[in-house]
Amino acid sequence: MATTLEPVALPKVRHTECFIDGKWVPAASGKTFATMNPATEEEIAQVAEGDAADIDRAVKAARKAFENSAWSRIDARDRGRLIYRLADLIEEEIDELAALEALDNGKPVRDARAADLPLVVDCLRYYAGFADKIQGATIPVRGNYFTYTRKEPVGVVGQIIPWNFPMLMVAWKWGPALAAGCTIVMKPAEQTPLTCLRMAQLAKEAGFPDGVINVVPGFGPTAGAALVKHPGVDKIAFTGEHRTAQIIMRDASESLKRLTFELGGKSPNVILADADLDAAAAGTHFGLFFNQGQCCCAGSRVFVDERVHDEFVARLKKLAATRKLGNPLDRSTEQGPQVDQAQFDKIMKYIQLGQNEGANCLTGGKRFGDRGYFVEPTVFENVTDDMSIARDEIFGPVMSVLKFKEWEELIQRANNTMFGLAAAVWTRDVGRAHEFARRVRAGTIWVNCYDVFDAAAPFGGFKMSGQGRELGEEGMKPYTESKTVTIQL
Ligand code: ADP
Repeated sequence: MATTLEPVALPKVRHTECFIDGKWVPAASGKTFATMNPATEEEIAQVAEGDAADIDRAVKAARKAFENSAWSRIDARDRGRLIYRLADLIEEEIDELAALEALDNGKPVRDARAADLPLVVDCLRYYAGFADKIQGATIPVRGNYFTYTRKEPVGVVGQIIPWNFPMLMVAWKWGPALAAGCTIVMKPAEQTPLTCLRMAQLAKEAGFPDGVINVVPGFGPTAGAALVKHPGVDKIAFTGEHRTAQIIMRDASESLKRLTFELGGKSPNVILADADLDAAAAGTHFGLFFNQGQCCCAGSRVFVDERVHDEFVARLKKLAATRKLGNPLDRSTEQGPQVDQAQFDKIMKYIQLGQNEGANCLTGGKRFGDRGYFVEPTVFENVTDDMSIARDEIFGPVMSVLKFKEWEELIQRANNTMFGLAAAVWTRDVGRAHEFARRVRAGTIWVNCYDVFDAAAPFGGFKMSGQGRELGEEGMKPYTESKTVTIQL
């Protein structure tokens, strides 16, 4: 039996206003909105509801900081030192931040503490080290000229992030932007603004000049859209749904902003007959149910070789049926609630669709408890490629298991999706593993593992899963402009 550990203490909510030009200010309209605890459906706090007026103030502050402040003259290595300092301050407060993330998002505190927060700190340190390694080149041109390139910051960047990994998305966005010397206006997701606001205060304490980092909480169609349309913003970095990215692309076309997108997925996770089935089952379970299934790279199409199908599915069923749901602040909880009512309703609709379309629900399929947005870990077998649960991104704890016979058929079916974020294969055959990695069109391929992330390894999507890459050296590129300088000798 699992031991029940003491729940962590309820974290303090310290910041609920907009962070603009180094100061905490209410929204110009005076409006606020509630951020909710998804485990209890109760309000945690009222947060400033920023809109176009606040975005305008923030963009002006970011522009001024980009052009006139100490930030524009600071040595690259000292920029790196500020980012290191921010990482240190986050690490000092790691337990409280993990609890705040669990409270606002619903993720188990043990996941926030063991996964999200260490990745946040690591990502910031990785990019801190990059600040003084952004280099141009000398170019051998024809004639008596000396030509070189400079890598300059792209300018004021607007960053719009989702609610599934609130702090980690801040780190992925701030890290490379700050290392490059950009200034930032961030709009956190309306469901989960609290940890982003806390990070803004820590950035102030770390010593970033006023206006370098600005955070405006609010809603997508108001604050988000205003940021995308603002002529003072040079680039938008967005993580969220592909439909929102389509709107952003249209809205940004007027000012031809640079755009990077990290979007959804319907990632194939493939179990070949020669795989270590215990390891594959554990990894497959984790690859779908981690973070309540709310991962853009979730392995939501599980393809199993028909020869091992029944014994593998029995393992998946057992793992899902024994997953421990409960209060996210309880340290033994493995699965918390979905983030809000809208996500809960969407997931329940897909579970119903799966049943209506003829898939067999092996375990789960219902709401858990009567308070909070909890959904039982759900496994469907006999899923076919045409079913809604095999095609659409559900973003919840719903696994679809599909059978396959032949390798060629498998590769075709794995690629038969508009998405291309991630894919995994479980096998002992190294040749097959490399062929899978070459032929499946996705930005990340995992072999005999799932959801392995590292700040140094680029992440992003093929097809409708995104544009550009985050993390690693590639993640720096969208935050720099290349300038060519030619001098007659
Ligand atoms: P999710 O399903 O993860 O909420 P969204 O794409 O709706 O995905 O949201 C991701 C982020 O995009 C959130 O911060 C949200 O407020 C923002 N957003 C939503 N609509 C727009 C929009 N029209 N313009 C800019 N940002 C938006």
